[in-house]
Amino acid sequence: MQLQLPKKTYVHKINTAVKVRKWQQNPAALKIMEKIEDWDFDVFGMANLCGNYMLAVVFCSISERRGLLQHFGLNIDTVCNFWIQVAQEYKKNPYHNHMHGVDVLTNTNYYLKSKIFEGLAELDILACLVSAACHDVGHPGNNNPFEINLESELAVRYNDISVLENMHAAKTWEILKRQGCDFLEGHCLSLHFQKTQE
Ligand SMILES: [Zn+2]
Repeated sequence: MQLQLPKKTYVHKINTAVKVRKWQQNPAALKIMEKIEDWDFDVFGMANLCGNYMLAVVFCSISERRGLLQHFGLNIDTVCNFWIQVAQEYKKNPYHNHMHGVDVLTNTNYYLKSKIFEGLAELDILACLVSAACHDVGHPGNNNPFEINLESELAVRYNDISVLENMHAAKTWEILKRQGCDFLEGHCLSLHFQKTQE
């Protein structure tokens, strides 16, 4: 069954990819991104500069260094639209915010360089990076027992089973299906991502 979403809400009035490219060339951002492959990447400094564009800027920069966007021929406009929506869906709570998403993204990229992951397919690397950056999207700042004890809407929806984890995965998928955000559309990649979910 085709999921019907209110498309008008998600029309992108500005060219997000142009803005992401500008941030990628900004001297202060370039200085911080010298350490994008390192453990101590300055997420806070980057957030102060780029705000909600940080997730798109960091993801695109890592993916381009790894040749992923080029390898899969991903549409940069669609990729950037997706990440702007993800950043906006991270709530402004003290820890589980978009900065945490970027922190886990850069840490995952760091771990993926270790010997144990040598030879990992591009598709699996892309899946790891997307999962890392989206893993806490929409986090309300409460934990699962809190949601379950409260009998919250989320707990009821997911029948008390891995409530937040299910919500993060569903939210990511829902964002992907928004107008102009489905960077997997037309790629055989979507089949792989479906299999990863099973
Ligand atoms: Zn987390």
